[in-house]
Amino acid sequence: MLPAAVAIERSGVDVEPGDHADVCFETMPQWMRLFVPNRVTGLTLRRRIFLDPETYDEVVAGVRPDIVSHELVHAGQWKADGGRFPVKYLSEYLRFRLVGVMHDAAYRSISYEMAAFRAGAESQRTMNSSTTPSATPATPNRVNPA
Ligand SMILES: [Zn+2]
Repeated sequence: MLPAAVAIERSGVDVEPGDHADVCFETMPQWMRLFVPNRVTGLTLRRRIFLDPETYDEVVAGVRPDIVSHELVHAGQWKADGGRFPVKYLSEYLRFRLVGVMHDAAYRSISYEMAAFRAGAESQRTMNSSTTPSATPATPNRVNPA
């Protein structure tokens, strides 16, 4: 388990650690992987952020500021909206799907996801403009957290 404050410090994202004092990153347990589609790299449940093992290692190494920002936005949304978060999240997704929007577009159109992707993209830009050439680049094709 990696406390959010440590992930914030290592990845250098512009997030207030005090806002996520009780939030932790951890590896998705095996049972959860049975229910979560393979392409999902991250899943935030209240104050617990579950990542696939590879992404977790990248967060521990401090090379995935996009994921750290993205998931911490979700942790903040959980905190702000409580039980309404999963209900609104799912209903927005289903509303898009019911009118024929494909999965990826529907997922990225969920208001919670739009806010999280904006934060993630912003931190990635900040990292790219401030790192040395030896820094490990993020893997753009594996950014599909939930
Ligand atoms: Zn997300």
